[in-house]
Amino acid sequence: MGKVWNFTAGPCMLPPEVMQQAQAEFCDYAGTGIGIIESSHRSKEFDEIAKNSEQLLRELLKIPDNYRVLFMQSGGRGQFAAVPLNLLSENGVCDYFVTGHWSRQAYKECHERFGNAVLHECAQRNSRGIYSVDYAQMRLSPQSEYAYVCFNETVNGLELFELPDLGSVPLVADMSSNILTRSIDVSRFGAIVFGVQKNVAPAGLVIAIVREDLLGHSRKYCPSILDWTVMNQYDSLFNTPCTFSWYMAYLVFKWIKNLGGVEALEKRNIQKARLLYEYLDSTSFYNSVIDPKDRSRVNVVFTLKNDVLNNKFLSEAKEHGLIGLKGHKVLGGMRASIYNAMPLEGVQALVDFMQDFAKANG
Ligand SMILES: *Cc1c(COP(=O)(O)O)cnc(C)c1O
Repeated sequence: MGKVWNFTAGPCMLPPEVMQQAQAEFCDYAGTGIGIIESSHRSKEFDEIAKNSEQLLRELLKIPDNYRVLFMQSGGRGQFAAVPLNLLSENGVCDYFVTGHWSRQAYKECHERFGNAVLHECAQRNSRGIYSVDYAQMRLSPQSEYAYVCFNETVNGLELFELPDLGSVPLVADMSSNILTRSIDVSRFGAIVFGVQKNVAPAGLVIAIVREDLLGHSRKYCPSILDWTVMNQYDSLFNTPCTFSWYMAYLVFKWIKNLGGVEALEKRNIQKARLLYEYLDSTSFYNSVIDPKDRSRVNVVFTLKNDVLNNKFLSEAKEHGLIGLKGHKVLGGMRASIYNAMPLEGVQALVDFMQDFAKANG
């Protein structure tokens, strides 16, 4: 098999250097004679991974001291339940600023099971079919206890580059698909949650960064493993964590630090996204339906002007070693996920192929 560029949305490409390191120490971690996935989560080796990974993440995201970092399981969707269970009082009200698939799923989880969530449609489609984020719709309801956003809509290809001003009401953000791809000001958020399988590690772990004063309000019937307060008390070792995913996250955090941190990756991500969107805008063969100001830097969604060519596009792309380009089942079309691990070279290979394909089929 020749060089393969993996554009899958998640689980997805990991940095090759990290994959190689994991392979090299898979059966014998740090001279212990056993693999890290064979070690106890209470071992000295794992304890170091747990402590150092939190420290690195704090450094990379400049997390203020009054935030706790919780390494949990349950995936992104588990946190859709954890958010109201930890933050919303029994008869309380909260606001969901919906911009696409994942914020809508989070809204549903909250509203259908846990309480009074107010839905705000914050992605508008204009007469030319272009989607944009309408920040003016991001308004609080009276007595709102928190507001919720999805910071990057992985399926729809929309990313938030502004934040609503909520005064003292905490903003909760799902950053599963763009965490560590750009610098953020953590202090603007009450809580940040992200599944690791897009930018950080293999599936298994979900990380919650929670402002201290928001702990201690969980509902009585919140399962302990979804309870941020319990997870904090136990330093994220309340039960057996997903040790492999956690270890891989540790390697990726080190990889990011060695590359120059989030700021360096952000520069590279801007370049990658620009290369692809500039090409999309230069041809009528392909089309992006996202307003340039709201285009995701990590999930580039596009269509072919003629849907009939979709399968041909995907199969020829695959022959060229470009895989995982099929759009999410709810949207159709194409999606190139170009997370942190994807180098500019991979995006260039995709653009080269797209140009040739357009020429041959235009
Ligand atoms: C992938 C994804 C999810 C879902 O995560 P699971 O771990 O599969 O539950 C949620 N939110 C966003 C933004 C995602 O990209």
